[in-house]
Amino acid sequence: MTIPFIDLKTQYARLKTDIDERIRTVLDHGAYIMGPEIEELERQLADFCGARYAISCSSGTDALLLALMADDIGPGDAVFTSSFTFFATAEVISLCGATPVFVDIDSRTFNLDADELETTIERVTKAGNLVPRCVMPVNLFGLPPDMDRITEIARAHKMMVLEDTAQGFGGVYKGRVSGSLGDISATSFFPAKPLGCYGDGGAVFTDDQQVAEKIRSIRVHGQGADKYDNVRIGLNARMDSIQAAILIAKLQVFSEEIELRQEAASRYSKALAGLVETPYTPEGYTSVWAQYSILSDHRDAIQKALADNGIPSVIYYRIPCHLAGAYKELGYQEGDLPKSETAAKRILSLPMHPYLEPALAEQIAHIVARTVA
Ligand SMILES: *Cc1c(COP(=O)(O)O)cnc(C)c1O
Repeated sequence: MTIPFIDLKTQYARLKTDIDERIRTVLDHGAYIMGPEIEELERQLADFCGARYAISCSSGTDALLLALMADDIGPGDAVFTSSFTFFATAEVISLCGATPVFVDIDSRTFNLDADELETTIERVTKAGNLVPRCVMPVNLFGLPPDMDRITEIARAHKMMVLEDTAQGFGGVYKGRVSGSLGDISATSFFPAKPLGCYGDGGAVFTDDQQVAEKIRSIRVHGQGADKYDNVRIGLNARMDSIQAAILIAKLQVFSEEIELRQEAASRYSKALAGLVETPYTPEGYTSVWAQYSILSDHRDAIQKALADNGIPSVIYYRIPCHLAGAYKELGYQEGDLPKSETAAKRILSLPMHPYLEPALAEQIAHIVARTVA
């Protein structure tokens, strides 16, 4: 039996009756686009995280794009974000014609560092060729960023806060649930995310009614009264009814699955203590453990030893965004964001999902112990 990095089959076996029935209902009623499941899901998602409005959409990438477009982000604007993230975070900024400005991370949480943010904004303001417009912190690996400080800094510079919680929906920051932590928040339901559908999907969250209405308009070709009354440039960024039906079924067990992820992470941290650097969770934060990521100077040897024993592991992320080939023209050099670069060289993510075999943590610890000895 091969060990999956993320086990979606066990979850499907558990929810099969409900998921199959909900999919069949969509096939029977035939409203494949914007069917009744869309509104039902949006209400449940908003309730789950405590945001006033949830707008479902076609992917996490489109969710971020919808949010930036709703704030009229464009050429000449600076959007500050973490360099140590999935490429889509930065990509959407460029798609809008704006300029991503990469901020270094906190080495312990892997999230955008508030002090680094202040220095970076100062530098951009002094250079004077870009207008600071938006801060986009990322809930990397499922852990919320230091939202109070980031929001305070953003307010001081009259910037919007866009929470990229593609990996972190459902996490907790000082009693508030991720998805409600930004002026606008965006998440992904890509199958491998903590809450995933069976294709591409995403959602945008906000408490602002006007922003919500604008996002709904951009989602369907900038529609006004209807989709043939086009009042702005938009996208086709709707979620399919079938994906919404699947998410409604999965959302019913999501809180319990987040608990199971806590248990899996605790088993790892206990077994691996002293062998590698295990993840740090600040007081008052709850991660949804999209990934369980360790740091070690023996990263490559550990990955090989695990593979030799049939255990998959993945490097998120080998190349920080500021050094991506696509951003060569921005002129970043190796050494510009040292904490992101060091993490990229030392990080390794282990298999993580709610249905992880309890014995796996011990097995991995034995292999790691032999490797780093
Ligand atoms: C997955 C991910 C995205 C993009 O989501 P998709 O649904 O794959 O488009 C954006 N940002 C982060 C941090 C992600 O992990």
